[in-house]
Amino acid sequence: MLPRPFTYHRPTSLDEAVTLMARHVDDVSPYAGGTELLLAMKMHFADYEHLVDLKRISELRAVKRNGGTLSIGALATHAAIAADAAIQGSLPALAGLCGSIANARVRAAGTIGGNLCFAEPRADPPVLLAALDAQLCLISARGERHVAASQFITGALETVRAPDEILLRIDIPLTARSTRYERVVHGHRTVAGAAAVIAQDAHAAPRVWLGCVATHPVALPNAEAHVAANPGVLDNALTQAIASDIARLDIADDEDASADYRRHLATTVAIRAITATVEQEERA
Ligand SMILES: Cc1cc2nc3c(=O)[nH]c(=O)nc-3n(C[C@H](O)[C@H](O)[C@H](O)COP(=O)(O)OP(=O)(O)OC[C@H]3O[C@@H](n4cnc5c(N)ncnc54)[C@H](O)[C@@H]3O)c2cc1C
Repeated sequence: MLPRPFTYHRPTSLDEAVTLMARHVDDVSPYAGGTELLLAMKMHFADYEHLVDLKRISELRAVKRNGGTLSIGALATHAAIAADAAIQGSLPALAGLCGSIANARVRAAGTIGGNLCFAEPRADPPVLLAALDAQLCLISARGERHVAASQFITGALETVRAPDEILLRIDIPLTARSTRYERVVHGHRTVAGAAAVIAQDAHAAPRVWLGCVATHPVALPNAEAHVAANPGVLDNALTQAIASDIARLDIADDEDASADYRRHLATTVAIRAITATVEQEERA
């Protein structure tokens, strides 16, 4: 199938892109790598009169380290993130994840911003970025605003992004001492993914997030409380805490896995992620 006809805009500056988004707000979509958007348009799941291609705006690709914050431009591709020395050094879990997503073609074209904004339920980076307490910076003609990655995705293919907003960058505080993302993949997509983060500050609460099992990433508060109260302890009570968090989630059967099997995989990846951070703590 072919997409319906649309007008293709190729701004060379952020100002121009923001103006185009505002002018066509009723029927516009940003366009990054196109790996999700073009498929959705060809299948007629999505139709837009105007596409604003962001690829000529080089500042959207920048990766910078400013003191204790790592800023990744929304247009950074998975391949660029995997190969970036600053990200490999300060956040190897993210570099490793981006280096293993999909296949070389998708990694070369697909962007971290497109991954977040598409909000596909089986996407991996939103889970890790929520656990890392990343902040997303969005821009529109009204100015910039910041949204926590943990609050950005609200459901399957749903985010708090307004129709005229462009995701500019992702700011990640480099406050973690131990970080791990674990996932189980079936075919091309993840059926369960979990991130665990232990902060350098001993008073900061550990964060454990789960994704790819329900409509969007969620925190596992009982698991977090168990890890906080029993640092380094991997016992049956931890498994029960994780299972009690997962029992509260609305998980459906689908073509990849039954709901029961997905709950089992979710428990497994959460235990693996926490176990890996305990091992990192022991080595630190
Ligand atoms: C075969 C295959 C396997 C995959 N496997 C995985 C996997 O294992 N794990 C995983 O996490 N993902 C996986 N993906 C998804 C992949 O990560 C995404 O396709 C990619 O990140 C989307 O980025 P894009 O730049 O192509 O987005 P596009 O397709 O260009 O855009 C996607 C959506 O985001 C919006 N958008 C894009 N950029 C911005 C921006 N800066 N501001 C506002 N809105 C924006 C667009 O309007 C559109 O709605 C897979 C995809 C394929 C095709």
